[in-house]
Amino acid sequence: MKYYFTLQNICLSLFLFLFFSGCSKEEVQGTNEQIVVQISTIDALLQGVFDGETTLNKLTSSGDFGIGTFNSLDGEMLFYNGTFYQIKGDGKIYKPAGDTKTPFSTITYFAPEVNYNLNSFSYEELKNTIDTLIASPNLFYAIRLQGNFNYVKTRSVPAQQKPYPPLVEVTANQPEFEIQSVSGTLCGYYCPPFVTGINVPGYHLHFISEDETFGGHVLEFELDEGTLDLDQITNFKLILPGEGEFLNTDLNADLSGDLEEVEGS
Ligand SMILES: [Zn+2]
Repeated sequence: MKYYFTLQNICLSLFLFLFFSGCSKEEVQGTNEQIVVQISTIDALLQGVFDGETTLNKLTSSGDFGIGTFNSLDGEMLFYNGTFYQIKGDGKIYKPAGDTKTPFSTITYFAPEVNYNLNSFSYEELKNTIDTLIASPNLFYAIRLQGNFNYVKTRSVPAQQKPYPPLVEVTANQPEFEIQSVSGTLCGYYCPPFVTGINVPGYHLHFISEDETFGGHVLEFELDEGTLDLDQITNFKLILPGEGEFLNTDLNADLSGDLEEVEGS
C-alpha cells in the first residue's frame, strides 16, 4: 500500500499530533500504560507486618484509585478520585495526612473501558456477573460500582499495639457495621488466581457512602440500582519493603485458609 503526503494527510497528522499532545498524563496512562501498583504482600499482612514505609503522598504518584490499610492496621483505606479515606475501627471516616504510611495497598489510575447499569444485585450476584463480563480471569480488573443500595454491611479493623498479632486474630473480633438505604461507591479489584500469597485472589471491595459517613471493607450488600465500571489492567508492579519486619518474616507457609477467614466475603 502506498502512502501519499497530500495536504489532507498533513493536516490530519497535525490534528492528531495536537490532539494527543493535549491529553493529560492521566489519560495517557489510563489508555496505554495502566499499572496495578502494590505495596508489600497479603501474606506479610496476614503474618502481622502492619507497618510499612510508603507514605500516602508517595502513593499518589502511582494512581488515583485503590484500597489497602494503614500503619498499625489503623482502619480500611479507600482511595477514590485522588482522595484518601480512612475508615477506622470506630466506624468513623477520616481524611488521613499525606505523611501517613501504609503497610499494604493496591493502587492504579482508574480509567474504565466499559460500564453497565445494574438492578437488584447482591455481592454474590455481582461476582458471578463480572465473571461473565471480563475477557479473562487471568487479568487484573479495577472495579467501581456507584449507586443506591438497600443494604451494605462492612467491617473495619482497630489499630494494633506491638507485638502485632496475626491478622486472623484481629479480624476474629472485627467491628462490623450495617446501613440501610444508602447512596455510595464500591471500589476495589478482581485479582487473578496466581496472585495467591501476594494479593487477594478474586474480589476485594471497599465502600464509602456519598455523604462520607459510612464505609469499610465490604462483607455484604444489596444494590437497588447503579452503574458498574470495569477497568482491565495487564501490568503489575510489586513494591516490597526494604526494611522493617518484612525482612524477618517467614513467608513460606500457605496462608490461604487464614485469608479466607480474614476476607469474610
Ligand atoms: Zn479490605
